[in-house]
Amino acid sequence: MGKKAQQKRAVKHAKQAKQRKAAASRNAAMSTAAAQQPPLDDGFAPSPVPWGDYATVADALTAAEDAGGVLSCFVSDDLNVYELSLRRGEDGWRYEVALYPDQVLRDLVKTSWLDADDQDQAVKQLHLALAAYIPQNLRQPGLETVQRPSTTSMPRIGWAQSLPMAGMQTWEDVVLAEKELPLFELAPLADGPDDMHWGRPEDTLALFREHGLSPRACVGCRAPVTDRHPHWPGVLVSMDNEYGPACGRFYLAGKSPQKVGHILDATQALTAGNLTGKEQTTQCQNCDAHITDQHPDWPGVWTKASGSNSPICAIVGGGGDDATSYDLIDCVYPHHPVGADSPAATAITTAKKTGYFSQPRWPGLTMPWA
Ligand SMILES: [Zn+2]
Ligand SMILES: [Zn+2]
Repeated sequence: MGKKAQQKRAVKHAKQAKQRKAAASRNAAMSTAAAQQPPLDDGFAPSPVPWGDYATVADALTAAEDAGGVLSCFVSDDLNVYELSLRRGEDGWRYEVALYPDQVLRDLVKTSWLDADDQDQAVKQLHLALAAYIPQNLRQPGLETVQRPSTTSMPRIGWAQSLPMAGMQTWEDVVLAEKELPLFELAPLADGPDDMHWGRPEDTLALFREHGLSPRACVGCRAPVTDRHPHWPGVLVSMDNEYGPACGRFYLAGKSPQKVGHILDATQALTAGNLTGKEQTTQCQNCDAHITDQHPDWPGVWTKASGSNSPICAIVGGGGDDATSYDLIDCVYPHHPVGADSPAATAITTAKKTGYFSQPRWPGLTMPWA
C-alpha cells in the first residue's frame, strides 16, 4: 500500500474509532431490549441495530410506514460504507443492505461521472460497470446494483441485496438473517483494487471503459483524476480532500519540496521547475499569500509564489454526517486572487459562511504546503 493510501486508511480508522465511540454512547442510552443484542462476530456485517430509536422491529416498521414506505440508515463499519433500509415492496416489507464503493473505487466512480459528457447516461454506465465488477463466483439473482437518493448532485450507486421481513420479530432475527447475505463477500472488494491484495487498477479502468465510461488515472500516483471538477476546471485533480491537483508522486519520492501536478503520460513527468522573474504582488483573498499564475509547473493555475509553490489554498473541512460526506464531490480549494474571478469563489464564500472551510484540518501537524 502506498504512503498516501496508508494515510487515508489511518484517517479513516481514526474517524471510525470516533464513530464507534459515539455509537457506543448511543447504544448505552438505548432501551434494554435493544441493548441486549448479541455482538457481531462477522467482520463484514454492519451495526446490528442501526436505528437506535426503534427498540423493536415493529416500531421501525411503523416508522417506515409513516415515512412513506422506506426507512434508511447510512452506516460505516471498520472498512465499509453501507445503507440499511426497510422497504415496502409488492410482496411485503424487505430489509435491504446496500454496500457502496469506497476509497479508490469511489473516486473512480466520481471522476468518471464528472468527466462524462452525458451524466445521465454515465449513471446507467456506472450501474453496468459496477455490476460487471462483481466477481463471477459472487454473482447471483437478487444481488444487484441500486441507486439511492443522494444528498448532493453526485449519484449514490452501490450493490444491494435484500431479504423478506416476514416472520422477523426481533432485531436478533434480522441480524442472524442478514449475516448470511452473500453481499458481504463483496465487501472486501468495495474499496477498489490495490495491487497488494487483489486485482490490478488497470483492469478496473478497462472494465469502466468497456461500459462506455472514460476513467483516467494519473501515471505518477495512480489516483483517479478528472479535469472537470467545478472548483478546478481544466486542471487534473484527484478527489482526495488533501491533495487534489497535487500529485502523490512527490510524496512517494520525498525529494523535492515543490508540488507538481498529476500526469496522464509518463513523458510529462518533468522535475519541478522554479519561478523566476519579478516579485509577485497579487494576493489571495482567502489566505493572503502572494500568488502567481505563471509558475512553470502550474501554468494558468494560481499558485503560491514561494515555499512549496502550492496551488492549494485550503483543504476541505468536515462535511456533516457520513451520508453527506459520502456524496460530496468536494475537493481542496484553489487560491482566489484579489480582484479576479475564480471558479471556486462561490463555493469558498458559502463554505466560509457555514464554517465548512477548514485550514488546516489538524493544527500542530506540519502540512507540506503550510
Ligand atoms: Zn498523480
Ligand atoms: Zn489562498
